[in-house]
Amino acid sequence: MSINDMPYKIYLEENELPTSWYNVRADMKNKPAPLIHPGTLEPLKFEDMQPIFCDELIKQELDDNTREIKIPDEVLNFYKMYRPSPLTHAVFLERALNTPAHIFYKFEGNNTSGSHKLNSAIAQAYYAKKQGLKGVTTETGAGQWGTALAMACAFFGLDCKVFMVKVSYEQKPFRREVMRTYGADVTPSPSMNTEIGKKINAEHPGTTGSLGCAISEAVEVALKSEGYRYVLGSVLNQVLLHQSVIGLETSAACKKYNIKPDVIIGCAGGGSNLGGLIAPFMGEKLRGEADYKFIAVEPASCPSFTRGKFAYDFCDTGKVCPMAKMYTLGHDFIPSANHAGGLRYHGMSSVLSQLYHDGLMEARSVEQTKVFEAAEQFARTEGILPAPESSHAIRVAIDEALKCKETGEEKTIILGLTGTGYFDMTAYEQFNNGTMSDYIPTDSDLAKGFATIPNINK
Ligand SMILES: *Cc1c(COP(=O)(O)O)cnc(C)c1O
Repeated sequence: MSINDMPYKIYLEENELPTSWYNVRADMKNKPAPLIHPGTLEPLKFEDMQPIFCDELIKQELDDNTREIKIPDEVLNFYKMYRPSPLTHAVFLERALNTPAHIFYKFEGNNTSGSHKLNSAIAQAYYAKKQGLKGVTTETGAGQWGTALAMACAFFGLDCKVFMVKVSYEQKPFRREVMRTYGADVTPSPSMNTEIGKKINAEHPGTTGSLGCAISEAVEVALKSEGYRYVLGSVLNQVLLHQSVIGLETSAACKKYNIKPDVIIGCAGGGSNLGGLIAPFMGEKLRGEADYKFIAVEPASCPSFTRGKFAYDFCDTGKVCPMAKMYTLGHDFIPSANHAGGLRYHGMSSVLSQLYHDGLMEARSVEQTKVFEAAEQFARTEGILPAPESSHAIRVAIDEALKCKETGEEKTIILGLTGTGYFDMTAYEQFNNGTMSDYIPTDSDLAKGFATIPNINK
């Protein structure tokens, strides 16, 4: 079938849903570095993590060798509420760009939480419930993860405590109310309810918060509350594992219609959607079966891959979490206040960091006004109002398609459209009013964050 005869939207059948997640670490020659204990600097063992994380999730975190991990039936049944998600041929965008390139997008915004985060939230809530826990604590930045987790906890009857980065709590009151509707308890971070929150408030008066602070608070509460564990919506190996459902569906849809992607693009905050989208394709590349170009896209104001250091660092500002080897801007790094586009985390998944370090994928950084220009063009052509995070990937997909216009190459580009932007209208308002600005941190701005990276030669 020629590319122009295939359906606009490729839907898999329900019975074509993947029944196992794919663990890309099994095919990596250089495994991602393990999480280490900040005191002993030794790799964390199962027992070390037990007070913080759910047992089954720790096993997944530590498993570098099992290629396929079965999706539990309860999780698969929940997936059926909103999966498979469509892979759409962006013919209207292609026409507007007048490019010979073919652009496809995998849309993960078709659920109430509005993003891919539900794919991991439901798995994590399931394992917590199975372990007999009372509830979970977490942080949320823009609010998508908190919403996804609130939905998942409501489904399994678990208590859910969310620390929401203060700037988002104030800018996104509707997100907060969605979470509360699903039964979650939402606290702006840094709060005065935790020791670490009080300390951060004292050291940085008036701070609008960061994901790093909110993580520290959520971990503190999990450690202090009987029957609670902490869950995280990105960065960790287990989250990339759950998100592989995105890539497995994409790969199945490509096979069904004989689509051969050349370039696969995703935005990168902590790396979970990108890690999930590229997983099976990266597996083929690692096994020498096929070659693809993978591009991680990040904000110029939070450039972990493109300007960060590959080193062991704390995952959180309060240093209560284990340390991960990753591309990092330093755990004290907080993006400039004018940054509205999400993807604010200082670090990056260890899996993706290793793959990037080994030259198996590329990264680009983009300025937010350019990102919103791409978002606007996408909304006006393809109809979907994209999340600012997703629009980073749209920006680079458009740039790649425009390059094809110059060279005449008929490349096939797949981008991860991670979510919708309905709760991001403050950012869109700034863009529409022409008041959105770009801030690229100077080397000396970044040096302050780098100075907080511990000096560990591992
Ligand atoms: C959280 C989020 C991201 C970034 O997180 P990753 O873990 O890097 O995928 C991207 N897009 C949307 C819509 C999100 O909610």
